Amino acid sequence: KPAKQRQRVPVVPQGIERDAFIAALEELGGQLGKENVEVNDKPLVDGWYMEHPNTHDMMTILDEEEFVASAVVYPSTTEEVQSIVQWANKHKIPIFPISMGRNLGYGGAAPRVRGSVVIDLGRRMNRILDINPEDYTCLVEPGVSYYGLYEAIKERGYDHLWIDVPDLGGGSVIGNAVDRGVGYTPYGDHWACHSGLEVVLPTGEVIRTGMGALPGNNTWQTFPYGFGPFSDGIFSQSNYGIVTKMGMTLMPNPGGYEGFMYTFPKEEDLAPLIDIIRPLRISMILENVAQLRHVTQSVAARGIPRSKFYSGSGPIPMDIVHKAAAEQPVGDHSWGYYGMCYGPEHIRKHKLAIIDAEFKKIPGARKIDPKSLPEDEYYFARERVAAGIPDIHELRWVNWTPNGAHIAFSPVSPIRGTDATALNDLGRRIHDKYGIDFFPAFIVGLREMHLIVEIVFDRDDPERKKAALDCLRDLVEEAAKLGYGEYRTHLVLMDQVAGTYNWNDSALMKFNEKLKDALDPNGILAPGRCGIWPKRYRNRGWEM
Ligand code: ADP
Repeated sequence: KPAKQRQRVPVVPQGIERDAFIAALEELGGQLGKENVEVNDKPLVDGWYMEHPNTHDMMTILDEEEFVASAVVYPSTTEEVQSIVQWANKHKIPIFPISMGRNLGYGGAAPRVRGSVVIDLGRRMNRILDINPEDYTCLVEPGVSYYGLYEAIKERGYDHLWIDVPDLGGGSVIGNAVDRGVGYTPYGDHWACHSGLEVVLPTGEVIRTGMGALPGNNTWQTFPYGFGPFSDGIFSQSNYGIVTKMGMTLMPNPGGYEGFMYTFPKEEDLAPLIDIIRPLRISMILENVAQLRHVTQSVAARGIPRSKFYSGSGPIPMDIVHKAAAEQPVGDHSWGYYGMCYGPEHIRKHKLAIIDAEFKKIPGARKIDPKSLPEDEYYFARERVAAGIPDIHELRWVNWTPNGAHIAFSPVSPIRGTDATALNDLGRRIHDKYGIDFFPAFIVGLREMHLIVEIVFDRDDPERKKAALDCLRDLVEEAAKLGYGEYRTHLVLMDQVAGTYNWNDSALMKFNEKLKDALDPNGILAPGRCGIWPKRYRNRGWEM
């Protein structure tokens, strides 16, 4: 997508004069090197996934200038991160740390407060500090991507080590874990699989959590808790610290793997299927974080624009979706299950037989033979991801609309047919109301599932952007009325989603605010992230 050439006035953080701000940046440049402090005064270029901007949300649902950085700075060490934090406190300038900024669908690289200084940690802090082949662990800096970690493991010849990757492999291992993203092997819960953090606090001190607090220890990446309160949790989905190092556990190569796919013919198969999945998943017969996808998204996953199938307005009619699916290699269906079985063949055979017998209880269930599929079929991207191999095929469904962008609605529930139906019906009803195609995918964790609904919109069409945002707001509100909450959300929805977690007169948010004020008295670190506003901003019209 070509750069937008419109003239723009560079943003300055609220509450500071432009000249004072420029002088403050020069002061910071003196500490970090001038080349590591960039004012955001150029046209905003969206680029694409692998060449993404670090100044704004390339998939923004608001105006691009809404969540935009005033400057971007590039520290190379933890000490430099500390000096940036001290500088921000001195000048009361909001800062917003990102690891790599490929958090597409949830805000990308954008800060929540317009004019914040983005700290792009990943550009220069991108070292793999350790890969331990005996303990099956690693220690990384924010700029280490899944691709980077994967390649380093291969280069060192550690065939016995696997990593877990999310849908798109270009993101940061730290960035994804701190935002509690998921992947698709048995190590798919990234936050649960981390061990040990190094964190720069909003007042500039550095701490190491867990065993990292004991000098000379060799257990930091193998025992996450250490002694005393387990503080790691407050550094995920928050604005309490800047993570400069993180330990991650690695999965043993299971000694073989085999992807599988089943399709189910009817919309109504959803509930009985989810009830079949639950005991299999909890007992680890279904071993990985698997996906149950609706046929509309499978059609879109081939990267063909919607206009090739349908040019009318409103949601694409289901008979057209089924016709398109019937012409594709997987064939017509309503739901497709993408799974993976691990281990040597004799072990796989046993588990796959159980799965086959259970899934075939749904009339019309079909096991797809991967050998019947062309090489670039979406199925193989799912298979790579479930084998810990980074991939970016997943991006293809963004071609569904011109200037395609996406934003997610992601509620969680137990793995129950009644919950799946309630959420699916709610999603369909509200998407229909706004004339938006409905792309549900159920991502089955161990005892819960995330429903991930991606809304694909034309980022150059203000009317469709508004419809998408109205639809999302409606979804969040209606889901909360039924008792469902989101596991993660885009910057624009953070206040609303945080507001649904309001039991006992919002006691949890009051606690979060108390922590925020204690740790960040000047309120400089990522104000508003995850709905947590520091005192200086609270109830002054920043919430949206
Ligand atoms: P990725 O590069 O994996 O896409 P991001 O760097 O965009 O992930 O991270 C997602 C979000 O998590 C960021 O917007 C930021 O709010 C938070 N975050 C990322 N890395 C850090 C970090 N090292 N310390 C604190 N917060 C972070």
